[in-house]
Amino acid sequence: MLVVVGTQLDQAPRFWDRSSEWYLPQVTAMMVSYADFHKSKSKRRAAMEIGLRGYLGVNDRILVYLDNGSFAFWRKGMERPINEYIEFVREAKPDWYPIPADYIPHPQLSTDKQRVLFDQTMEMNLEYGSQGFVPVVHAGDWLEEYLEAFQRYGLLSCAQIALGGLVPRLLSSRGSKSRREVVDAIKQTNECFNGGLHVFGIGGLGTLHLAASLGVYSIDSVGWRNRAARGLILLPGRGERSVVPLGNWRGVEISQAELKMIETCKCLACKRYGLAGLRAWNARGNSEGRGNGTSGFNRRAIHNLWTLLREADEIDAKLQSGEYYIWYRQHVTGTILPKLIEYALYRNGNF
Ligand SMILES: [Zn+2]
Repeated sequence: MLVVVGTQLDQAPRFWDRSSEWYLPQVTAMMVSYADFHKSKSKRRAAMEIGLRGYLGVNDRILVYLDNGSFAFWRKGMERPINEYIEFVREAKPDWYPIPADYIPHPQLSTDKQRVLFDQTMEMNLEYGSQGFVPVVHAGDWLEEYLEAFQRYGLLSCAQIALGGLVPRLLSSRGSKSRREVVDAIKQTNECFNGGLHVFGIGGLGTLHLAASLGVYSIDSVGWRNRAARGLILLPGRGERSVVPLGNWRGVEISQAELKMIETCKCLACKRYGLAGLRAWNARGNSEGRGNGTSGFNRRAIHNLWTLLREADEIDAKLQSGEYYIWYRQHVTGTILPKLIEYALYRNGNF
């Protein structure tokens, strides 16, 4: 499964840049959002002049994915800049790009309003799905209608489709029920579709296992950054752990046994700076964590990213060799996740 590393424009750590301290050769695909270009005329113009690849300074080995920014525009209550996005895609030439806009039929809206949003997304799929833009469907009550419409209009023969709208479900207070719905949504979409399924916005270690167990082609995530900013690190086979208290966020404290895992971690950050490096504040020299330094953040972010990529490689290797079905039971800790993985494997016809 391809892990597309989501990042914010011009933000450290520059994992794709050979000249950076934080260059990670393991990365083969990255994603930036059109929303970041839309808010800066000069950046947008520069990327259109020299191409997105040149603007970012990535080498030929790395695929550049562009997100349409719909979720960000929606959160700000902005109109989707459809024509500007199309122009940007044409000039900046990303390797992968979804339809110009998609409109999540949020479950808290009335059925009529949801229907309007569903119809708007389908209009985009029908108009642009055959022009190289990747069609989008949303998890939730409308998924079946999307898939029926895709079947009716021949969109299931596209090389790729993307599944969105999962993040609100994963965060939902309905807990394990909503997580099962996420597994079902991925499974249902993949079943109807023979091409490569991309799933937007998942990428904690748990969801990585679920997506891979379900045969997803690619996922993207900015979770490695978000967690680092909140003082959280990822550990193989586990949920996130808190190594430094930042902001109002309180995660599960790292245990003594888990500290040993850091001592043997082979990522750039742990090798160079050790546990003390991961425990640094986001800001330099200020015990309250204020200021403009990013040292602790960069180290945690790179540790998280490295751990995510390594876990994905290991999952792929174990799935291929058939060892996964036994391995995950020892490797993945917690009570909910192993059961969900079992459910995903079962749903995927492996049991
Ligand atoms: Zn590390």
